[in-house]
Amino acid sequence: MPSHDFRVGEGHDTHRTIPGRPLMLGGVLIEPSPFGLDGHSDADVLLHAITDALLGAAALGDIGDWFPNTDDRWKGANSAELLQTVLRDVKDRGWDIINLDCTVHAERPKLMSWKPGIRNRLAELLEIEPERVNVKAKSGERVGPVGREEAITADAVVLICHR
Ligand code: MG
Repeated sequence: MPSHDFRVGEGHDTHRTIPGRPLMLGGVLIEPSPFGLDGHSDADVLLHAITDALLGAAALGDIGDWFPNTDDRWKGANSAELLQTVLRDVKDRGWDIINLDCTVHAERPKLMSWKPGIRNRLAELLEIEPERVNVKAKSGERVGPVGREEAITADAVVLICHR
């Protein structure tokens, strides 16, 4: 066995846009926004992708295994709490997060000015330094579900190392 056991995990998520709901991205309320995201929980598409990346790295399944959307316990759930539940378990198994890289794909709202705030919030939630977190934002170039503003999607990659 290598002296340093590193594992990488990826996560992806999609949520449909819907008017009249708050838009949560990376644990940050984005306002003003022309729409929020539809979903069983608070629909934070970025936190869901990151949670899946963390579960993937630790080989612990996916977010649907942990928090089934058929279970009323998770209706309106705070995705930050779901992420931290997973983080606790991953850390208890001896894993530390080395870094996170993630991308939000949204035609609107424009996220440029939100990236530093999201980065800091993610670092806080993951209990790591902001220097270990990178947040990217892409438009959908007006094509596909993202470009037509029908959905917002997110991708995340996490590297973990065993203590
Ligand atoms: Mg989701």
